[in-house]
Amino acid sequence: TELLAKPIEKIRTQMEDLQKADASISRIRELFAIQSKIQDGPGAVLPDGPLRVDFKDVVFSYDDDQPTIDHLTMTLKPGEVLGLLGRTGSGKSTIARLLLRFYDPQSGVIALNSTDIRDCKLAELRKRVALVTQNIEIIQGTIRDNLTFYDASIRDEQIVAVLHELGLGAWYDAMPEGLDTGLASGGSSLSAGEAQLLAFARVFLTNPGLVIMDEASSRLDPLTEQRMEKAVSKLLTERSCIMIAHRLATVQRADHIVILDGGRVLESGRREVLAADPNSRFSQLLATGLEEVLA
Ligand code: ADP
Repeated sequence: TELLAKPIEKIRTQMEDLQKADASISRIRELFAIQSKIQDGPGAVLPDGPLRVDFKDVVFSYDDDQPTIDHLTMTLKPGEVLGLLGRTGSGKSTIARLLLRFYDPQSGVIALNSTDIRDCKLAELRKRVALVTQNIEIIQGTIRDNLTFYDASIRDEQIVAVLHELGLGAWYDAMPEGLDTGLASGGSSLSAGEAQLLAFARVFLTNPGLVIMDEASSRLDPLTEQRMEKAVSKLLTERSCIMIAHRLATVQRADHIVILDGGRVLESGRREVLAADPNSRFSQLLATGLEEVLA
């Protein structure tokens, strides 16, 4: 049995890998099925710097039933932070998916700096708009591959500088082969905080004009939390941001607040104006505690 233990263990892990691969292949198929309906645009160019975002009377449903986004109109000025609030199922993630054109609306227009996003090349759109979520996709590859997605124009010195800037210097210094160190797919070799910071590092390196952040709702340890706070502050300089907010601390960064309900705007306004109005939904949310209401 001693002799067999190793090969059996090897077969077991290979089986596991195959199962994982199968799951990712079906996810990829799903994504292609969705994307095949999306027509690439003619190539309108989005300028460098922070982007303005306009949703104009946008209607969208996943199936032809009840609209998930129901005549939504909202604006984000360049360089500002929009705090997007609403309970689970209100349509927050769908807004992110529409902005990246994983789906197109049935009617209405989504524009970046007055350009209909359907007029941009998908590759250009997805370079200028970054989505940072809690589920960070770590690919099987080196640290460099994971941070640049094979964009050879990003120099190693830039990558290392960003890692230090985000408080990952000590983590990076411990990597045996520097940027050539391999990361396990799924990020199993990383802590939640490290994975999140790596996702931020990607954003800095591609320098998008709009960042959509779906912040982690789970608690991180205080040191990671502190690093995260700093990273987010840097992330927001000279960029527009839509922040899907789950926590009070995050909401405090927002210039403008939109509260969604059933894919519609329940309330919208400048954060300090809404916060100062005791009758606003926002101040009621603040009083009750976002964590409870938006759980
Ligand atoms: P939130 O991010 O605010 O929790 P979502 O945008 O994820 O809300 O979901 C809005 C609504 O759309 C929900 O009712 C949800 O069930 C539905 N929905 C989300 N994704 C899909 C999908 N891929 N297919 C069908 N319905 C979906």
